[in-house]
Amino acid sequence: MTTALILAGHGSHISPNTAGIVWRYVDELRRLGVADEVTAAFWKEAPAFNQVVDTVRANQVVVVPVFTAKGYYSTQVIPREMKLQGEVTVRDGKSIYYTRTIGEHPYLTEVVCKRVQETLLTADLDPAQTTVAVIGHGTTRNPESRLTTRQQADYIRQQGVVAEVVDVYLDDEPSIPSIYETTQSPNVIAVPFFLAEGSHTTMDVPQALGIVYGDYPSRVDGRQVYYTPPVGTDLAITHVILELARESGLPFKPHPRSNVWQGLPSAGWIELMRAVQAKREFEFGQLRLSTLRVEPSDASSSPAILTSPTQLRDVVRTSPFRPHATSTDLPANWCVEIDTPEKLHAVVETVYPGAVADWVNRGNGTVNSTARETYTPEAVQSICSQCIRQPLWFEDSDREDVIPCKVPCNWFVSKVKEG
Ligand code: SF4
Repeated sequence: MTTALILAGHGSHISPNTAGIVWRYVDELRRLGVADEVTAAFWKEAPAFNQVVDTVRANQVVVVPVFTAKGYYSTQVIPREMKLQGEVTVRDGKSIYYTRTIGEHPYLTEVVCKRVQETLLTADLDPAQTTVAVIGHGTTRNPESRLTTRQQADYIRQQGVVAEVVDVYLDDEPSIPSIYETTQSPNVIAVPFFLAEGSHTTMDVPQALGIVYGDYPSRVDGRQVYYTPPVGTDLAITHVILELARESGLPFKPHPRSNVWQGLPSAGWIELMRAVQAKREFEFGQLRLSTLRVEPSDASSSPAILTSPTQLRDVVRTSPFRPHATSTDLPANWCVEIDTPEKLHAVVETVYPGAVADWVNRGNGTVNSTARETYTPEAVQSICSQCIRQPLWFEDSDREDVIPCKVPCNWFVSKVKEG
């Protein structure tokens, strides 16, 4: 039996931190050696929900939705995109287990309470003069998504620690500004029930609260507002993920690894290695691969030598932020030295998540007539020409060596909507 753990998050085209926190959990779970393969998947970034299961070779796969609430994404989007049928899905020789969201685990309530207690102590606030506002995302598409945020507020209210407790929402009612109408205490502790320090928690929520991010306490309508870090930055979240994964019945016991290039998805590593050995030097997208090193095709003469997936991800994804992993603007000033075939694959998987598995499964063209009718050749030309993948969903290709794209990606759809 081989095991894989997939953390399914939202991702973002605006902030690197939204998916960044999920990759941080992934790095820690790989280091702990809890499964043969550990990876992430996203709605907005790569690898996409509809690609990721093909990237792992394990026959026992657990998918944990890294969302703070059961709602639209966990009950509709992820099951649809991953073709899941309930808690266990058996297909293509794999058993795929689907767990609850991390927001449904009781530890998240502890984190909210910790945020409140820390603020009361450090700011020396009088609890009798303090309101706690638990802020969730919410969505009018699914009223259930408010449930977990409301449960946090209910718990704090039952504890009787502060004078007033409310739950408010970024995209639903009651709204965030309603705090100032429905409560009276001179102090407000605002706890964002979000995972990452992404665009919602650093821009949208502070704006709705009427505060400047990073400048606390802020004075709003004569009230002192204290804004805490989001719940997902708590280091123990990886243990919550593990507990949820173990509800599948699989052990996920830690076997700490010293090699940071192990524990990545491994589908296609043999085929990739053979291609590199056959040609000595092999171009994959904007990468030049050899048995000695992986570097960008236009690498500079004195590149930084990177030694971990975390460093590599920081260079190619985070600084500056490249939300579309396969765009043709790969930073050039780096290289990774190769000492094992698995490491060669791990480097490519870190730069282009999910691309090797699709390349190996290239098969014949998969022109999708619905997608072809939906989008114009001009849109495909202007957006997909800046991507290393070939949009086979629009136009088939005779070439066997392309890195295929089988469905329009979220980046493409967003760019078309933006016009
Ligand atoms: S839809 Fe276009 S831009 Fe998106 S991954 Fe496919 S080829 Fe690239």
